Amino acid sequence: MSTPTNAFVDFKEVKSRVGILQVLERYDLLGLLKRSADRLSGPCPLHQGTNPTQFRVSVSRNCFNCFGTCGRGGNVIDFVSLREGISFRDAALLLQEWFMPDKVTNRPAGTAPRQTKDASPRPSSQPLQPPPTVADDQDEEGENPPLSFALKALKPDHPYLTERGLTEATIASYGIGYCARGCLRGHVAIPIRNRDGALTGYIGRWPGDPPSGQGKYKLPKGFRKNREVFNIDRVVHADSSDPILVVEGVFDCLHLVQLGFQATVAILGSSLSPRQETLIREAAGAKRPLYLLFDADEAGRKGASEAAMSLCSSSIVRIIDIGAYQPQPELLERSQVDALLKQYGALNP
Ligand SMILES: [Zn+2]
Repeated sequence: MSTPTNAFVDFKEVKSRVGILQVLERYDLLGLLKRSADRLSGPCPLHQGTNPTQFRVSVSRNCFNCFGTCGRGGNVIDFVSLREGISFRDAALLLQEWFMPDKVTNRPAGTAPRQTKDASPRPSSQPLQPPPTVADDQDEEGENPPLSFALKALKPDHPYLTERGLTEATIASYGIGYCARGCLRGHVAIPIRNRDGALTGYIGRWPGDPPSGQGKYKLPKGFRKNREVFNIDRVVHADSSDPILVVEGVFDCLHLVQLGFQATVAILGSSLSPRQETLIREAAGAKRPLYLLFDADEAGRKGASEAAMSLCSSSIVRIIDIGAYQPQPELLERSQVDALLKQYGALNP
């Protein structure tokens, strides 16, 4: 290997200066991919898949994800690392050699740049240009203010809560209960807290099938549930490198917490909002992988795919298809979750 192993490499700089299109072009893969606006899709070049839409790329976010067998995803360095079967660090060094000649100063004289198994060194036909920055969607990120009231005297012993499998300890710890009066009268109320632990709203669930013409859920007036990530207050402050499990619903989340997966959050629906994306990114940082366990239905699959594309530029993201076991995470047994995490979690076998 020509590149000194102790060479300094600034991963952040490599990620920001090398565009995913440059990398795909270098491997002669662009012809296999269909482009529409910011997205490219095609068969997965990492597991040599044949499904024509399983491999997806976001140009603006500078990342890729496979929604098929290999389930791999990540940034430009991840791609080269997987494609070449080399370490993340070696992949970054290789990208420097290919696209950042100004950075390659300490190669010993007389040594050639590294040859790779399916791309001989050649100059890129594209100018070095940083990928466009992701649109600033701060405006859509307005937060819910802390609630000016708290529902009093929620009854923790309503049979619906046991029917949904919640234990007494969970009910008490999360302050859940049946609301006999107030804005969520007739509903089971689940308190929603922001990342700092302040109460910002409730999810009201009718216990059982609601009367005709009435929805299953009710929210306090003005409360926007897509600005909150349930359980984020507990996950964000935990000093841990455990994966974070992301699910759709509150009951899915509480069920997985009860199974022992404390680092589970719920996005209170099947589509991830910009505000939720920010919250989950912050909680994950660079070291905690994100496993998306959405419902095994069309909305869940679509939601997981979109969420993965949003989150994969900063975190390792895996979509875990639970469909072989259950339609919803709330129904999974501990052994099934373990099997799924083992199946998808072996990042470096
Ligand atoms: Zn793949």
